[in-house]
Amino acid sequence: MRPFAYTSATTKEQALQASRPTSHYLAGGTNLVDLMKEDVERPDQLIHVTNLDYKKITSNADGGLTLGAMLNNADTANNRDVRTKYPLLSMAMLSAATAQIRNMATNGGNLLQRTRCPYFFDTAMPCNKRQPGTGCGAINGSNALHAIFGYSDKCIAVNPSDMCVALAAIGAMVEVQKPGGSSRMINFNDFHRLPGSQPEKDTTLMAGELITAIHLSKPIFSDHYYYLKIRERSSYAFALLSVAAGLQVNNGVITKAGLAMGGVAHKPWKLTKAEAYLAGKKPEQAVFGAAAAMEMKDAKPFKENKYKVEMGTAAIVRALTQAYEREA
Ligand SMILES: Cc1cc2nc3c(=O)[nH]c(=O)nc-3n(C[C@H](O)[C@H](O)[C@H](O)COP(=O)(O)OP(=O)(O)OC[C@H]3O[C@@H](n4cnc5c(N)ncnc54)[C@H](O)[C@@H]3O)c2cc1C
Ligand code: SF4
Repeated sequence: MRPFAYTSATTKEQALQASRPTSHYLAGGTNLVDLMKEDVERPDQLIHVTNLDYKKITSNADGGLTLGAMLNNADTANNRDVRTKYPLLSMAMLSAATAQIRNMATNGGNLLQRTRCPYFFDTAMPCNKRQPGTGCGAINGSNALHAIFGYSDKCIAVNPSDMCVALAAIGAMVEVQKPGGSSRMINFNDFHRLPGSQPEKDTTLMAGELITAIHLSKPIFSDHYYYLKIRERSSYAFALLSVAAGLQVNNGVITKAGLAMGGVAHKPWKLTKAEAYLAGKKPEQAVFGAAAAMEMKDAKPFKENKYKVEMGTAAIVRALTQAYEREA
């Protein structure tokens, strides 16, 4: 590990003022410190931010919630209001990692965790995300874990977060403090980006910006929801593929659907066509099958990840079925 300076901030002003292009904010450290040990991330300064006063969950006027960015994933997922108002989010968060990691990992850090592409972690291999211009080892290499949607000829990596798949399905706004002292809100679906010609940029966050909160508007999908995570073992494993499904059903008809997939693209992959199609339909197998087919027909797999097309189709149908049949 390379030497670095360490600053512990207690106010957002201290954190923002200490920030410079070569520094990183340090939250739980469960991703950043691993990457520093592997020499993938090389900050010359860490600014510790978990002592900042953004560790609460507060209620909003519309019945929604604001989740502090420095609160850990375990306390967020197990919070009574989160469990009852956004159970899809709670379910997805509790499927991630292990209890110990969820106790350390923060909400802000979760949004910014980096891909698990093995070439990204191996500094002896080419990787445009780690070192722009060196090429992509995965495109003609080992690509079983990689994207089937939205990739570019520069990068085919996937976003690894479970929390973010649920946030894409339910909708959220990310509150960010700018180095100059003002703040801005980013629609969650614009927060992560596709790789295009700049795969080194995972998000639309600007240099030095600090995430302070995630805003959820009024409760949604609290009766019919399911997070289906398919992985190689039941704990301590990232998703090969996942589906977050939420339904509002009134008098036997779907009035609103929220659907997103993980493990298939560089960002949480919102299934907007299927969401629009499902509204006004009856919650039945043929309808769920048609919704899955209309999304998965656009998949463009690589040599080793063709399995994700069939698996993804079945997973969408199963997640929607489980969401509908679930009794809150
Ligand atoms: C063994 C293992 C298994 C895992 N399994 C899963 C899994 O199944 N599913 C899953 O979703 N995740 C999984 N994870 C990932 C885990 O969820 C992330 O490592 C964690 O959410 C990152 O949060 P953190 O607070 O530790 O972030 P850190 O590691 O501290 O930071 C991550 C990045 O975010 C930046 N950052 C942090 N907070 C802020 C902020 N407030 N504003 C601006 N920048 C900030 C940091 O500078 C850094 O670049 C796993 C991790 C491990 C180690
Ligand atoms: S897929 Fe992306 S992260 Fe993986 S090797 Fe290619 S450029 Fe790097």
